[in-house]
Amino acid sequence: PRQTQIGLMSHAELVSEHETQNANYAKLKTEKLTLDITRGKPSPEQLDLSKDLLSLPGVEDYRDGSGVDVRNYGGLHGLPELRAIFGELLGIPVDNLLAGNNASLELMHDVIVFAMLHGTADSPRRWVDEPVRKFLCPAPGYDRHFAITEALGFEMIPIPMGHAGPDVHAIAELVAADPTIKGLWAVPNYSNPTGVTFSEEVVRELVSMPTAAADFRLIWDNAYAVHPLTDTADPVLDVLGLAAAAGNPNRPLVFASTSKITFAGAGVSFIGASKANLDWYLKYAAKKSIGPDKVNQLRHVRFFGDADGVRAHMQKHRAILEPKFQLVLRILEDRLGASKVASWTEPKGGYFISLDVLEGTASRVVTLAKEAGIALTPAGASFPYGKDPEDKNIRIAPSFPKLEELEKAMDGLATCVLFAATEKLLAAGK
Ligand code: PMP
Repeated sequence: PRQTQIGLMSHAELVSEHETQNANYAKLKTEKLTLDITRGKPSPEQLDLSKDLLSLPGVEDYRDGSGVDVRNYGGLHGLPELRAIFGELLGIPVDNLLAGNNASLELMHDVIVFAMLHGTADSPRRWVDEPVRKFLCPAPGYDRHFAITEALGFEMIPIPMGHAGPDVHAIAELVAADPTIKGLWAVPNYSNPTGVTFSEEVVRELVSMPTAAADFRLIWDNAYAVHPLTDTADPVLDVLGLAAAAGNPNRPLVFASTSKITFAGAGVSFIGASKANLDWYLKYAAKKSIGPDKVNQLRHVRFFGDADGVRAHMQKHRAILEPKFQLVLRILEDRLGASKVASWTEPKGGYFISLDVLEGTASRVVTLAKEAGIALTPAGASFPYGKDPEDKNIRIAPSFPKLEELEKAMDGLATCVLFAATEKLLAAGK
């Protein structure tokens, strides 16, 4: 019988397979597609789930539970009722959680910039005065995290991502020896782009491991804390409590937002941390703002009601997202399963599927797809400096396109993966 695993084909079989894929690709190009599966944006249908926000809180509703007029200045901590709702979801006491404006990424950027300009609560000197500063980057990871530390002059060290989180043994060895390592980027639940949720063991290790830097920080970006795609959501671990119990209360800073819950870039954000960290943060945040947009915060309080309101709302997202994820996984299996030139994650939540193609072909696949009218995230985007050392990872964002578009894009992508693989193996002299 004819071999289906591309890597095991005879030269003659490979030549014939390459011709088939070449013809498939030529046909794909004639379809003149214009499809985009680049960024993890909610679809219009998902945004419609929150359309009531556009008429909240209503013309007569402008006071929070304690009577504060949200139309006026002040209240740097954010509305207590909103902090209570998300405190419950994130497992953080209200006193340790602040509610902010429209973007958690801005809060993360602020924290690192404040550490640069002023040092953290535990820093011997300002980070900007460190002759060398380094940051650990689990990869594949979130490109915008890496962009922040790159822009601020950190040397970024990639850390392999496993099935239960980043490689804690590699991390422990590095941070124990090197005081110039100032932090780690982490997406603990349904990571971008692998979908991995950190195990309790990994979290315990991260909060307790000895670090040469007294001011080592975990930038704990729980962007997908309440974004399951299955009936049993992965638990949100109490990273602040675990860190405090391990004697490192100031190590984690937790971030979250409603960008993938209500409106992307027009929701509310959160920062959770020890009292010392929040005092430190507020000292500098008070210089850049008189307070957050409390009207938007009140609108979100009214919209959700309570934490169960958020959970119920997320089930509506799931109903829209799950068929898209299933479609992507089905096409990957149907088109690429037998060939064994690709592997992919099967996330239980979050926004992405991480696809590994034949080593050395990811950038070629992205170029081929682009020439066929299918926009993919640039190869390497999920790695520090945009460089995937093995040139094999592609991030798939299924949320935005309609099912029919997604189907076409994925089918086209599979054709590009097979074409690039046969091309690569022939060029390698197989
Ligand atoms: N963190 C992660 C891991 C993300 O994937 C994203 C994109 N939604 C963000 C942060 C951005 O969040 P925000 O809109 O709150 O800045």
